[in-house]
Amino acid sequence: MKIGFIGLGNMGGPMARNLAAAGHQVAGFDLAAPVIEGVTPAATAAEAAAGAEVIITMLPNGQILRAVAAEVIPAMAPGAVFCDCSTVDVDSARAVAEQAVAAGLGALDAPVSGGVGGAAAGTLTFMVGGSDAAFATVSPLFDIMGQKAVHCGESGAGQAAKICNNMILGVTMIATCEAFALADKLGLDRQKMFDVVSTSSGYSWSLNAYCPAPGVGPTSPADNDYKPGFAAELMLKDLRLSQQAAESADADTPMGQLATALYTAFVEDEDGRGRDFSAMLPRLSARGRG
Ligand code: NAD
Repeated sequence: MKIGFIGLGNMGGPMARNLAAAGHQVAGFDLAAPVIEGVTPAATAAEAAAGAEVIITMLPNGQILRAVAAEVIPAMAPGAVFCDCSTVDVDSARAVAEQAVAAGLGALDAPVSGGVGGAAAGTLTFMVGGSDAAFATVSPLFDIMGQKAVHCGESGAGQAAKICNNMILGVTMIATCEAFALADKLGLDRQKMFDVVSTSSGYSWSLNAYCPAPGVGPTSPADNDYKPGFAAELMLKDLRLSQQAAESADADTPMGQLATALYTAFVEDEDGRGRDFSAMLPRLSARGRG
């Protein structure tokens, strides 16, 4: 298949490389002009899009996505599919999809879970919004870049699934960290706390698979001095998207709101930037009630 790939950063670079390694013809464009094995560099986003059957974008935010889409959509071949894999706000995802469909193209929002490791290994999970036909066209590419693709519904449904998942993640990570901090002050051994909770009703992915306490449970960023992993500022980005969506959909999300406020303070006023999002544990441990 002829593919245009725009945004070749930490995630997009290895995703594009995997598509090329599987035998697809990939033209790539990124403002930073990185060299990606097997990917032919294009001079502009429009050049990467010309003649491609599928355009994939992996960009930092909705504003940049809208700007790139405005340039790329008029350059796309009739019937081609615009597939955005970035994590962006639901409104931008829907606006870009509408524009693509109005131009006679297919459109998907297909954000991912699995991080940089999953992008490199081709084991991402895709959550996808858009038409059945567009999903069918891009499915073979999802199979190369990932291990699972869930068609969640119409345009915007992929982004909706992504931010709901990550809102749960942010909230459960904070809940797990504050429980460890409380357990410490109650004199409960962290390993005992893990042994009990990981097999009791307080278990979660945050505790069982990504334990925020060093030396306890499976190896996680806590064991590497809280180097990301999943950086606190990326968690904050996703929590803010959840609150933006809750605002526009008039949804009551008090825990999501509180998690957003905590990660905002951690990243903007404290030492959270550049640390893993599970470093919420040392932050809370260092504090008292008042
Ligand atoms: P990144 O900053 O490494 O990559 C973004 C790339 O986009 C950069 O290389 C940048 O030069 C390029 N870019 C910016 N503006 C551009 C433009 N106008 N035209 C062409 N290229 C442009 O970020 P990343 O970690 O690869 O994340 C990309 C997306 O994936 C984000 O939306 C992020 O939220 C999402 N995501 C990231 C992770 C992760 O663990 N890093 C996990 C899941 C989802």
